[in-house]
Amino acid sequence: MNRFESLACLNCGRRYPTDTHTRCTKCNGILEAQYRLDGRFPTDVRGRSMWDFADFLPPIQEKSIVSRAASLGLSLARGLKRKGVFTASDGNAAAAISAYSARARMKCLVLIADDTPTQKLAQIMMYSPILLRVRGIYRSLSSLEAALAQTQEILPDWLNHFIWAPFNPLLVDAFKTIAYEIALSQKVPDCIFIPVAGGDLLSGLYKGFQELQKMGQLQRPPRLVAVQGEGADPTVQAIEKGLDKVKETAPARTIAGALRVNFGAEHSITAVRKSGGFGISVSDEQIVKAQREIARDEGIFCEISSAAALAAISKALDLGKIARDETTAAILTGTGLKDYPVTGDDISRIPISKDVSSLSTTLEGMLAAERIGVAV
Ligand SMILES: [Zn+2]
Repeated sequence: MNRFESLACLNCGRRYPTDTHTRCTKCNGILEAQYRLDGRFPTDVRGRSMWDFADFLPPIQEKSIVSRAASLGLSLARGLKRKGVFTASDGNAAAAISAYSARARMKCLVLIADDTPTQKLAQIMMYSPILLRVRGIYRSLSSLEAALAQTQEILPDWLNHFIWAPFNPLLVDAFKTIAYEIALSQKVPDCIFIPVAGGDLLSGLYKGFQELQKMGQLQRPPRLVAVQGEGADPTVQAIEKGLDKVKETAPARTIAGALRVNFGAEHSITAVRKSGGFGISVSDEQIVKAQREIARDEGIFCEISSAAALAAISKALDLGKIARDETTAAILTGTGLKDYPVTGDDISRIPISKDVSSLSTTLEGMLAAERIGVAV
């Protein structure tokens, strides 16, 4: 049976209709879906899909499409009988929402920046959403808010599918199922490093672990670490300065495209603090190095923004913020092909055999020079 109770303000507890897309109108707090956490937690599911945990998600009729926040939003849109969805993004969220809209046969409007790189655009355009370029949309949080508000006014029957708790509190629950899956599949690590843009993934994980604790499935949530790029770290700065709100900073600069934000929200600060975690920023060089290391050592080509979490583990170890005997995990949020920076890899640095007949001589020379790491 579905455990959903209500949508309520995290701060003052005032309740709201489930299709609310704002902060609390009384105290400006972020809203959160609340669930009855008595009774059994389904430990026999193996977490193949977040719909295994449908009882712990907002009640929806439509479960035919799968995956996290994008999918949950589309399911809500269908459940609420909306005519379409709209969002503002020029990255992964736009591609995911466009894909799930196509699958749900729902119209989808994506507001993008006027200078969105072709490589990113191609991944979105594959699903043929309606696109509108809006100059200056990401200039500040207020310009983004204004763009979404105007769109909602023009399209009152469409669902605002911007994945961020201050605009869309229900979608955080898609991310909390990651915590469920971690808890069901392995011993929960002491510490989890999470790449942070808006902070929904981090606060969703915290919510999931907290609910597991309330249901007696977990002693305490792991320490959650907010990871951002140096030059795009408003949330980390707020955590380090002990602030309760995230202050908007200068335009963000980091190689990690999905983390290039200059604003944030307090739900991630709260989650980090309550879990006993911390915030950490990593440089472009550290991120690129980590991306190469996990590809070389584990065979995983992860998105550059995910690599930030790995870089942060190394940095936290160096700084003594985590101990070597602590179990640590990082959430890798996307594949490397999502956002591949063209680095200075020059094909001329790769040895060449000038024709096929000289291959063996060239290869022997390389082995002798230990240019490649195989035993002869
Ligand atoms: Zn409130």
